[in-house]
Amino acid sequence: MSTLRFQAIQQTLTRIPINFLEKERRSAIFGSNVFNETAMRQYLTGEALEMINDAILKGSKINRTVANHIATGMKEWAIAKGATHYTHWFQPLTGATAEKHDAFFEPIAGGLAIEKFGGGQLVQQEPDASSFPSGGIRNTFEARGYTAWDPTSPAFIYGTTLCIPTVFVAYTGEALDYKTPLLRALQAVDSAATAICKYFDKNVRKVNASLGWEQEYFLIDSALVLSRPDIVLTGRTLLGHAPAKGQQLDDHYFGTIPNRAMQYMKDLETECMLLGIPVKTRHNEVAPNQFELAPIYEEANLAVDHNSLLMDVMAKVADRHNFKVLLHEKPFAGVNGSGKHNNWSLSTDTGVNLLSPGKTPMSNLQFLTFFINTIKAVNDNEEILRASIASASNDHRLGANEAPPAIISVFIGEQLTNVLNELENVTTGKLSPEEKTELKLNVVGKIPEILLDNTDRNRTSPFAFTGNKFEFRAVGSKANCASPMTVLNSIVAKQLIEFKSEVDVLIDKKGMKKDDAVFNVLREYIKKSKDILFEGNGYSEAWEKEAKKRGLSNNKTTPEALKAKISKKALELFEDLGVMNKIESESRYEIEMEEYVLRIQIEGRVLGDIARNHVVPTAVKYQNVLIENVKGLKEIYGENFKKQAKEQLNLIEEISNHIEAINSDVTKMTNERKKANAIDDIDKKAFAYCNKVKPFFDDIRYHCDKLELLVDDELWPLTKYRELLFTK
Ligand code: ADP
Ligand code: MG
Repeated sequence: MSTLRFQAIQQTLTRIPINFLEKERRSAIFGSNVFNETAMRQYLTGEALEMINDAILKGSKINRTVANHIATGMKEWAIAKGATHYTHWFQPLTGATAEKHDAFFEPIAGGLAIEKFGGGQLVQQEPDASSFPSGGIRNTFEARGYTAWDPTSPAFIYGTTLCIPTVFVAYTGEALDYKTPLLRALQAVDSAATAICKYFDKNVRKVNASLGWEQEYFLIDSALVLSRPDIVLTGRTLLGHAPAKGQQLDDHYFGTIPNRAMQYMKDLETECMLLGIPVKTRHNEVAPNQFELAPIYEEANLAVDHNSLLMDVMAKVADRHNFKVLLHEKPFAGVNGSGKHNNWSLSTDTGVNLLSPGKTPMSNLQFLTFFINTIKAVNDNEEILRASIASASNDHRLGANEAPPAIISVFIGEQLTNVLNELENVTTGKLSPEEKTELKLNVVGKIPEILLDNTDRNRTSPFAFTGNKFEFRAVGSKANCASPMTVLNSIVAKQLIEFKSEVDVLIDKKGMKKDDAVFNVLREYIKKSKDILFEGNGYSEAWEKEAKKRGLSNNKTTPEALKAKISKKALELFEDLGVMNKIESESRYEIEMEEYVLRIQIEGRVLGDIARNHVVPTAVKYQNVLIENVKGLKEIYGENFKKQAKEQLNLIEEISNHIEAINSDVTKMTNERKKANAIDDIDKKAFAYCNKVKPFFDDIRYHCDKLELLVDDELWPLTKYRELLFTK
């Protein structure tokens, strides 16, 4: 095994960077593998184009004849670009993307063949769904699943395959994927927000949620990764002593990008350009060999698709450069983990960002309306929001010293805090003309100016307002953004619906003017949402105590966090909005608990295996060397040998102690795993894995890492942290 380690290092050190030459301007190739407006104009009839645009804007249905036209156009375009196959591309609840390729090719009578792709194949397919997770849905209904075209996300070509973004649903209508509830949530927030915009501007007909994700990742040489069975099987290192130098010098952050990584990024970004993913920013992150890639924000559904696609493309391009991309939230203990900040805002079809202060007092009142409603939505549903980002891997990151804690709170900065304080004191009922003028001039009217120099950035806040958007920072690097986006847009939709009905009551029943009514309701919301606002250090013990006093949840582990998904409140929220019915919510809960169990189970097995079959035998081997040495000393020095062999004797004993501890911990862990496996109830099983099995991981690791420090470096079989993190 140690030979594998040294071979891997050797291989890494002698790699020649695969230079990537960008031949064309990015603007020239952007979206050229996407069936976008330009391609559609060329390949579709005017009528078909109009129907697609209607479907995108209004969600209207596309009839069969037109679907046939579109399919034919799409096929011609794809074949002209070298595609031979097509696939319905979807996001089942495994978190990965799924595709099954079919050739356009079809034999016809007379030994001839044609390329065929009709409306039927475009609109609906029936993949063999039996191996995708469905929670209770399939058991309850024995439902088969089908995929259906999502015209709001354009088809694209990857490799030689035409990929058609689709939803994946059971025949009984239940969603079996991430996209379906997201689309429903986006629709809910659209209609709720549009209704409110009409208070301010009658011309608004649609509100889109926008998402700009920031993808963090580690880039490690593939030979090094393959020499570590834990990374190969679990995506992270289960053991490994911290290197003498870690990230304490902060010399990687925003530093010069190493050449091999740079070539990879250029290649990756070029692929992104072809696929219409508008990537813009790249830089080194805090940890060694950690990087970030961010696009320009897009409509949320498209942005989610693009992020899912990106994660696939990242892995594929990495192969060409002899890298592996680690998307795990915490691949290395003691160094920063990776997240995926979700920058979110709402914008109207008239081009207004509702979370950006405007030029007039009225547009600022609109900004405040959406700003305060978002805060209230998070305040009232923090636990459901926390549940949306729960996973076994993200548990390692949340609450670790660099990432947001498991407690959800909102950071808005000092200036906006002052604005809210002022608004909290507005008069109940009708406002006097003087008060209104004062408000408009000196509070609401001043927002754009104060925001200009609002530079506070609180890195530890899980949910921060950053000038013209909220940034949900607790999302894991590996996660599909659909889940947090579904929840965030749903809770905001629900909040906006409530807001409208409260304002309308004041207008209709109390005869208030619109802006008086808005001020009145917002004032009450500010009072009610105080608990969620927090500007301080997110991972201090003081905040934990304070948050507890405020009644905020602090669910540190996935099984605890996921519970909120099936609370009465959550079930009703999603049901009322038509985002997910009870069965859909419950099935997701079940799938995620199951996934948690499987992840910890695999980690437990891998750790037990590495500890017993790699670490212990190596330690014994080294111990034997020491024993031989002691024997030799005894031969030379006779009874006096103890003086010369003192250190060796100590080491022999220390090694024995660690070996003993490892063996006994692995045995205990295995027994707990067996007990947990015998539990049928998924809740109890997940908690058993979390509370009984997982705690052994740290103990076993501790002793293995101690041995790493004791054993001769030449013998150590596992590639060390310094080699994984500092070989470029
Ligand atoms: P940071 O300093 O956090 O890296 P950036 O300004 O680089 O912030 O933006 C990060 C992400 O936020 C990018 O994807 C960017 O496109 C996106 N973003 C910017 N404005 C908005 C907005 N109004 N709504 C949603 N996302 C936005
Ligand atoms: Mg950011």
